[in-house]
Amino acid sequence: MQIRSRLTLSFLVLTASILAAVLYGVYWLYKKNTEESFYKSLESKIDLTTQTLLPNESTFSPVPNDWIAPEGDTLPFKDNISVFNTSYVRVFSIKKAAIPVSAKDLQEIYKKGEVRFSHYNLLALGKKASTMKSQYVVVAEGYCDPTDIDDLANILLYSFFIGVFLVAISGWYFAGRALDPVSSVVEEVENIQPSDLSIRLRTGESRDELVRLSEAFNHLLDRVERAFQVQKMFVSNVSHELKNPLTAIRTQIEVTLQQNRSEEDYQKALKSVLDDIEDLSETEQKLLYLARIYNNPQNIPFSPTRIDEVLLNSMEQFSKQHPDYQANIEFSSMPDSDDTLLVSANESLLRLALINLMNNGCKYSDDKSVLVRASFDKDGQHIIEVCDKGPGIPENEKNLIFEPFYRSPRHLTLKGTGIGLSLVNNIAKLHQIQLQVLSPEQGGTVFKLVFP
Ligand code: ADP
Repeated sequence: MQIRSRLTLSFLVLTASILAAVLYGVYWLYKKNTEESFYKSLESKIDLTTQTLLPNESTFSPVPNDWIAPEGDTLPFKDNISVFNTSYVRVFSIKKAAIPVSAKDLQEIYKKGEVRFSHYNLLALGKKASTMKSQYVVVAEGYCDPTDIDDLANILLYSFFIGVFLVAISGWYFAGRALDPVSSVVEEVENIQPSDLSIRLRTGESRDELVRLSEAFNHLLDRVERAFQVQKMFVSNVSHELKNPLTAIRTQIEVTLQQNRSEEDYQKALKSVLDDIEDLSETEQKLLYLARIYNNPQNIPFSPTRIDEVLLNSMEQFSKQHPDYQANIEFSSMPDSDDTLLVSANESLLRLALINLMNNGCKYSDDKSVLVRASFDKDGQHIIEVCDKGPGIPENEKNLIFEPFYRSPRHLTLKGTGIGLSLVNNIAKLHQIQLQVLSPEQGGTVFKLVFP
């Protein structure tokens, strides 16, 4: 069922129930009021009868049920008045009684003093009355005309149906109007294609729920668009990164095979091919790590790791991998207890991040060296800074360098893949480490890692 129909139906059921309850209340009150006035009129007739008739009690004699008083000898009432003595015998009546009054009814009237009873539209009131000599029950009965009540019931019934009809029409119209913006949101969403994710939903000035929904949808689109861009860049860069070394390897082999060469030439060619294969395998390793962090961060194992050991191991590994680069270390503070040095981490990823930072620092500096400053605080506040004396990073590139495959146009002549810092950034995020790029006054770059 559509929301519009559901809204209209709920509104209709609710309004119809309230309307029915109110109209029935009006009907019931009116009926009660009419009956009350009728009983009041019967009561005044009983009082009049008691005052005028009972003093002549000596004239009372049993009256048969079908007895009718002679013309001109009655009280001036349209309704019937009967008087019963203590032996439950009717001793006076104006007309033939319409409501049968049993001995049980009379007993009850003697006991309670006043009783109301009814038979269809005939209403009766019985009241106890006393004279000096005896006690009597005076019963007044009459026909309470239901025409007014029935007319009112009809009017109320028609009003109910007309009301329900009007509510249904207006409910349908207003539900449609209220849902109009939803339809336009749906229309706009349907126009968004994966080929153009730059389209955004229109949001107005107001802060209603639909505007907030559109805004939430726009934020989602921002994230989807970004994910798409990364994916596109990833695919095109990966193919590029793989294609270049493969072409180089192929060309070298083809050139080498063109003619017979000396053993030394073959060795030189093979060494160059090996270098390219190592680059290729390094790129592939970095890509694998990146994909693992992107796709399955929850499956990456963490364990208590000594941060100082990770740092020293990274430096050792870095020196072995790059004997032509130099990394120096400087500790500014060290805690007394070894426990303070324990952090929850994935050691190999942390090492990879530190090696990447040291590698970049050396690669982009003329002196091919970096200084690693470590501050391991006794309160568990650990900071590692990788400082170099290179060209620094311009402000406008500070965010871009963490994008996967971003390479500064200033360094395109140097070997690189553009994956390193993106990997470092993702490893830092995974470990909730704050990664900052600082440009010190004396020049160079500082990558600062603040551990949680
Ligand atoms: P790659 O070094 O392979 O190009 P990275 O992701 O490691 O890729 O770095 C991205 C870019 O950031 C580099 O192209 C370089 O321009 C810049 N960059 C990274 N580290 C430094 C640094 N220490 N000093 C100056 N520029 C740097």
